[in-house]
Amino acid sequence: MEPHDAVRAEILRAVGVLGSERVRAADARGRVTAASVVAGEDVPPFANSAMDGYALRAADTVGARPDSPVRLAVSGELAAGQAPTVAVAAGHAIRIMTGAPIPEGADAVVMVEHTDSPRRPVEGATEVAVHRPARVGDHIRPAAGDLARGDEALVPGTWLRPAHLGVLASLAVTEVEVHRRPRVAVMSTGDELRDDHGPLAPGQIRDSNRPMLCALVAEAGGVPEDLGHAPDDEAEVAARLERAASDCDAVITSGGVSVGDYDVVKAVLDRMGVLRWWQIAIKPAKPLAFGMLGAVPVFGLPGNPVSSHVSFELFARPALLHMGGHRRILRLSVEAVAGEAFRRRPDGRIHFVRVALDQGPGGAVARSAGGQGSNVLSAMAGADGLAVLPDGPGVDEGGRLVVLLLDGPPA
Ligand code: AMP
Ligand code: MG
Repeated sequence: MEPHDAVRAEILRAVGVLGSERVRAADARGRVTAASVVAGEDVPPFANSAMDGYALRAADTVGARPDSPVRLAVSGELAAGQAPTVAVAAGHAIRIMTGAPIPEGADAVVMVEHTDSPRRPVEGATEVAVHRPARVGDHIRPAAGDLARGDEALVPGTWLRPAHLGVLASLAVTEVEVHRRPRVAVMSTGDELRDDHGPLAPGQIRDSNRPMLCALVAEAGGVPEDLGHAPDDEAEVAARLERAASDCDAVITSGGVSVGDYDVVKAVLDRMGVLRWWQIAIKPAKPLAFGMLGAVPVFGLPGNPVSSHVSFELFARPALLHMGGHRRILRLSVEAVAGEAFRRRPDGRIHFVRVALDQGPGGAVARSAGGQGSNVLSAMAGADGLAVLPDGPGVDEGGRLVVLLLDGPPA
């Protein structure tokens, strides 16, 4: 049995990063930058006020106290969107609103709350009493304080989230170079499978893996191509795999990778001469068939639905993220307290236990999400993460667990 991280590393070495395309910034959420975005202008473009208050000279406010305020002449008013026309002279202040440019001569803003001015100053008021001394720079947002022209605003490999779209807008960037999304063919195998929603004949089961794997592909930023299900027939599976590999960037199959007589995916990949077949030191999802059909990786995932999901999570997902140009391709993990005992026997494998997480007083608390059989998909569906149980006797209630999160950023 191979350690799963060594297998993943080998897969990642075999898989290349896809090329790029230009998309409108407005359509770029969820995409991954393929080039740097360099700021073409300063953000903010001018020094401006962070508060509603008075722009003044800090030196004029030395010693100001509520019981002995400093009185300054108000020589104007500036709202956001207005350009200053008068400078602030010594002994003067200009009423200023959040976002308005700092006028010449001013080097600080005093919040309106620290003056005797009402929130809306009386029309024609000519004097303001300042109750506190200001320091140079107080409540001034400097020009380029967020990004300066020439800064690398986004590095290549950035997964674009809403705030990134805001950053692009702040720079007037309307198009970005992003990696292509991997097109991923998804196919199930098994004579027992049925996907027409009709009544099941004896021995038949419904194909639950394919919709699940298509959705997992989409969540990993790929575009799933549903290839339906194939019977346990080597010629048929071989023909479909070849077609899929010529149309798509990756192929994912489920079923047929164990050592049974009907394990045709493994046999076909073996015959094509591209098979790296592993027995991986994990539970669930011990068997994995992986091969490269030319530049196209083929992931032969095990058929048991939980095994298929876990195998996708540990091997296919990082590979698809890598193809899609992501810099961070592994899940974040959290440390959780075991809300119950997690018992296991030593068997040379790491166990990935489906757990639900709750927020406890000292952090996350993990409890089993239900039956841990590799066919119990409902417990997988109820899981927030996979608790990593190293080989050994398990973890006592109250002990510490590392849990791989199943949701959240693709990091
Ligand atoms: P296999 O890996 O082909 O030996 O399949 C292992 C188990 O998973 C068997 O019980 C199969 O019936 C079941 N199985 C295989 N493919 C699917 C699928 N697409 N949906 C649900 N169960 C499946
Ligand atoms: Mg099968």
